[in-house]
Amino acid sequence: MQIVSKLPDVGTTIFTVMSSLAQQYNAVNLGQGFPDFMMSEELIALVNKAMQDGHNQYAHMNGLPLLRERLAEKIEKLYQTSVDPDTQITVTPGGTYAIYTALTTVLQPGDEVIVFEPAYDSYIPNIEVNGAKAVRISLRFPDYSIPWEEVQSKVNSKTKMIMINTPHNPTGAVLSSDDIEQLRKTVSGTNIFILSDEVYEHLIYDGILHQSILRYPDLLERSFVCFSFGKTYHCTGWKLGYCISPASIMKEFRKVHQFNCFSCDTPKQVALAVYLQREEAYLSLPKLLQQKRDYFRNLMKATPFKGIPSHGSYFECYSYAHFSEEKDTEFAIRLTKEFGVTAIPVSVFYKEGEDHKVLRFCFAKQESTLEKAVERLVKLT
Ligand code: GLN
Repeated sequence: MQIVSKLPDVGTTIFTVMSSLAQQYNAVNLGQGFPDFMMSEELIALVNKAMQDGHNQYAHMNGLPLLRERLAEKIEKLYQTSVDPDTQITVTPGGTYAIYTALTTVLQPGDEVIVFEPAYDSYIPNIEVNGAKAVRISLRFPDYSIPWEEVQSKVNSKTKMIMINTPHNPTGAVLSSDDIEQLRKTVSGTNIFILSDEVYEHLIYDGILHQSILRYPDLLERSFVCFSFGKTYHCTGWKLGYCISPASIMKEFRKVHQFNCFSCDTPKQVALAVYLQREEAYLSLPKLLQQKRDYFRNLMKATPFKGIPSHGSYFECYSYAHFSEEKDTEFAIRLTKEFGVTAIPVSVFYKEGEDHKVLRFCFAKQESTLEKAVERLVKLT
């Protein structure tokens, strides 16, 4: 059978490639972003209880009503924004799906979407599979800030959307209130949508405030804001998330959603509706993860890598440009095979493979895992 590929340039995602290699070589996997510490036992017990109590059939297609109510309460408290749980929140099988659905909801062939590189690897294929064009703008190296003048120069009548991601994967960079002001300036008076990927909303450090689009009602009016329970509750394998948007836009989002996944895992939604009341579980995250980041940063001082300081996410980037000329993809493979540590080469997050000789390390690990990785990395000296 012949097939005309909708994604002719796409291979297997780097996360699968590097995790498989890590397994094959028994390497410490600081590549793919997932915690290796235990999630909450209480939350696990709540899922078990939900199953025992008989919550095993389809949930409401928009998400369990109680869960949506609790999310609206959380949003009100954290971001002082009132969101209607009936019309503005949809629970999705993960953040990636929420992003894909948002793009599919609005994109028509020929539309342009402004996307910043390095970009999380699903963004550009998700744009292109919808027949739209990704207009790529490189973040400034090495602080990975947005060059707003360039953004403004690339906006035209075909621009349908701007995608932002804060805290940012893969760099850990975070947007400031000045960035939000620039974004406002860029979209005001246009019909441009915003997709704000905020799966790392609670993973923000150094006392910095998360600049959620939910804080800005005028921007929320044109936005899809995407979240992931996997990141918040240390259970990336659960693949549950949600999307927030204004009611008129959410109506269209749900048309796409209902014939793709229809509804999400019921017992987990029941459990999360209860667990969301434990505010401490998410309010304690900046402290918990910052401790891990700082622990890793300190250990890394014994290696030849140079850190690129950042303030959020699961990740921190490190440069090796001063001691090797190797391409980052090759260096990452060699690091796994010869030194037993897996990281993600950042050039894969650029469509044209822009290579600054930087690797992304995931520090959302037990201290013993981080120690084991760095014990191996010091051998590079
Ligand atoms: N978000 C995770 C990362 O950046 C992994 C997601 C995935 O494996 N698709 O590492």
